[in-house]
Amino acid sequence: MADCIFCKIAQKEIPSTLVYEDELVAAFKDLEPQAPFHALVIPKKHVESIAALKAEDKELAAHILCDVIPQIAEEQGLTEKGFRVVANTGEEGGQTVKHLHFHILGGRSMQWPPG
Ligand code: 5GP
Ligand code: ZN
Repeated sequence: MADCIFCKIAQKEIPSTLVYEDELVAAFKDLEPQAPFHALVIPKKHVESIAALKAEDKELAAHILCDVIPQIAEEQGLTEKGFRVVANTGEEGGQTVKHLHFHILGGRSMQWPPG
């Protein structure tokens, strides 16, 4: 997607602080961190949101959830104390960037419910 900021980050046209990268996925520090550790995990291919995932994306989604997020959490020392994963989806879900991303937040106690 030509105008998508996260596609540009995935293609390294916009700089970011990467914390993880493979063929299919990139993860980088959020520009406005809401916790001591705050990163965004994205598929490199453009998918708008969880609501836009298709059957053919199952492996990619499973890779992000089963492999990438736990690995980042472990590397960042978050596994033991815990962390939060958030995927804001659509307008009422508070999604501002329309390229699927999973926030990983950690390093402090989280409140529930969120606002
Ligand atoms: P959303 O509100 O869509 O769930 O989250 C978008 C997130 O992307 C926000 O937390 C925002 O700070 C982050 N963000 C927006 N633009 C950029 C950028 O250019 N670089 C980085 N690293 N993060 C960004
Ligand atoms: Zn995109």
